[in-house]
Amino acid sequence: MADNTNEKISAYLKRKIASFQVQPIVYHRGTVAKVGDGVVRVTDLPDRLYGELLEFDGGVFGMALDLEENGVGAVLLDHADTVHVGEGVRGTGVVAKVPVGNTLIGRIIDPIGRPLDGLPLETDDYLPVEQSAPAIMDRQPVHTPLETGILAIDSMIPIGRGQRELIIGDRQTGKTSIAVDTILNQKQSDVLCIYCAIGQKASNVAQTVQTLRQNDALDYSVVVAATAADSPAMQYLAPYAATAVAEGFARKGKHVLIVYDDLSKHAVAYRTMSLLLHRPPGREAFPGDVFYLHSRLLERSACLDEAHGDGSITALPIIETVGGNMSAYIPTNVISITDGQIYLESDLFHSGVRPAVNTGLSVSRVGRSAQHSAMRRVSGTLRIDLSQYREMAAFASFGSDVDDATRQMLNKGRTLVELLKQPRSAPYTLFEQVALLTAYQQQIFEGAENGLRAVATALLAFLKENESDLAERVNQTGELTDSDYERLSAVLREFKEQHINGKSE
Ligand code: ATP
Ligand code: MG
Repeated sequence: MADNTNEKISAYLKRKIASFQVQPIVYHRGTVAKVGDGVVRVTDLPDRLYGELLEFDGGVFGMALDLEENGVGAVLLDHADTVHVGEGVRGTGVVAKVPVGNTLIGRIIDPIGRPLDGLPLETDDYLPVEQSAPAIMDRQPVHTPLETGILAIDSMIPIGRGQRELIIGDRQTGKTSIAVDTILNQKQSDVLCIYCAIGQKASNVAQTVQTLRQNDALDYSVVVAATAADSPAMQYLAPYAATAVAEGFARKGKHVLIVYDDLSKHAVAYRTMSLLLHRPPGREAFPGDVFYLHSRLLERSACLDEAHGDGSITALPIIETVGGNMSAYIPTNVISITDGQIYLESDLFHSGVRPAVNTGLSVSRVGRSAQHSAMRRVSGTLRIDLSQYREMAAFASFGSDVDDATRQMLNKGRTLVELLKQPRSAPYTLFEQVALLTAYQQQIFEGAENGLRAVATALLAFLKENESDLAERVNQTGELTDSDYERLSAVLREFKEQHINGKSE
C-alpha cells in the first residue's frame, strides 16, 4: 500500500520534472509621480486593466481606477505612509481576487483575501471580486423560504432564497441584530452564511464575530471585514469580495446568505475615493455612478436554475437612515434595487417593541410565494389586524369611552404586538411560530394579556413536551394539514383550560 503510494508520488514528480520549463515572467513597471490622501498617479505604466492590482516596491498594494494613456491613477489599499515619489510600481496583470471554497468556512478575511484571524490560509481556488451578474435565462423565480426565526418577519415579510431584502433604519434600531439572528437561525438548514462588515468600528465587528462563535455559527459562516480603520478602497472592495466568496459556493449548488453591514458606509467610502480621484460630484456629493455601484452588486444575488447548479444567493443589505428619512439619495436607490425592505423604527424600538419592525412600511415583493403553506394558513390577517389596531389605538389614547367590540379589538391588537416581540438570539422554529399565531387567531391568550410573555413561553414548553410528533411533521413538511390544524386547536384549548382559565379562577 505504502509502496504503491510512493511509486505514484515519484511517478508524478518525474512527470512534472520532465515537463518543467523555465518561463520568463514579464512585469510592467512604472514610477510613482504623485501621492497624497491615499491616491497615487503612476507614470510609464500603460495598458493596465480597470481594477488591476498594483504592487509598490515597499510591498503596499493599490488598485488602478483611472486609466490614462501613459499611466494610471490608483487608490492605495493599505496604509499609504510608506509610498513615496519615485518609487517603482509593478502591474500584477490581475484584477483583485479572493480565495473561495470550503477552506474559507469559519474564517475571517479582508477584501483581498488575507486572513485576519491569525491563522494561515491555504487555497488555490480564487475568483475575481468583480463579476457580472447571472443572465436572465440562468435564473429561476424564488421558490424556497429562507427562515429568519423572527416571528414578525417570517409571518408578514417572508424572505425567499435568492431574494434581496433590505434592512433599513436609523442607528441603533437593531439592524445588525436581525441580520445576525438570521445567520444564527441557519444552523439547522443547509444555508452557508457570509457576514460582510464595511466601515464599522473594529470593536463592533469583534462583537459580532464573538456572537457567531458563541452560537457555533462560525461553523457555517465566513466573515469578510473592512473596518473603519481600513482605507476607503478596501471598504469599497469588501462587498464585491464577499459576493465573490458567495458565488464560489453558489456555483457549486449551495445556498448562501450574505449580509452587507452596511451599504451606507460603502457609498460613503466610494464617495471619498471618487472625490480624491477628482471625479465630478453629483447629488449629496456622490459621484454619478453611485446607483450602478449598488445595482451591479445586488444583481449578483439570485436563484440559479437547475442547469447552473440550483444554488442561490440571498442578500440582506443594511442601510442606515438619518432621522427616519427613507427618501435620501442612497436609501431610495437601494430600495429600488432590492425586492423589499424591513423598515425599523426608532420610536418603536424605544417604546420596547423589539424587533422594531414597522409592518406598514415593510414589504417583501417576492417572498410571499415562497412562504411555507403552514405559515400562510395562519398569518393572512396579521397585517390588517396590526394596522387596524394602530389606527384604533391612536383614537383610544384620547381617553374616550370605547364600546365592547372596540375594546376587544384593542386587546387583540395589544396581544399581537406583545407576541411579536422577541429577544435577540432566540429564533422560533416554524412550528413554534405557527402555534403562537394559531393561538392568537383563536384568542387563546384572552385573559392573560398582562403576563403574555410568560404564558407564551409556557405554551411553547407545553407543546414541546406533549406534541413533538406534530412539531416535527410541521417543521419537516412546512404544511399544516386540516387534521393537524384540528389537533393543534384541541391542544391549545386544553392548554387554555389548564393554564389560563384554571389560574384566573
Ligand atoms: P448601529 O446603527 O450601531 O449599527 P444597529 O441598528 O445595527 O446599530 P444593533 O447593534 O443590532 O443595532 O442593536 C442595537 C442595540 O439594541 C443592541 O444593544 C442590541 O442588543 C439591542 N437589541 C437589538 N435587537 C433587540 C431585541 N430584539 N431585543 C432586545 N434588544 C435588542
Ligand atoms: Mg449595526
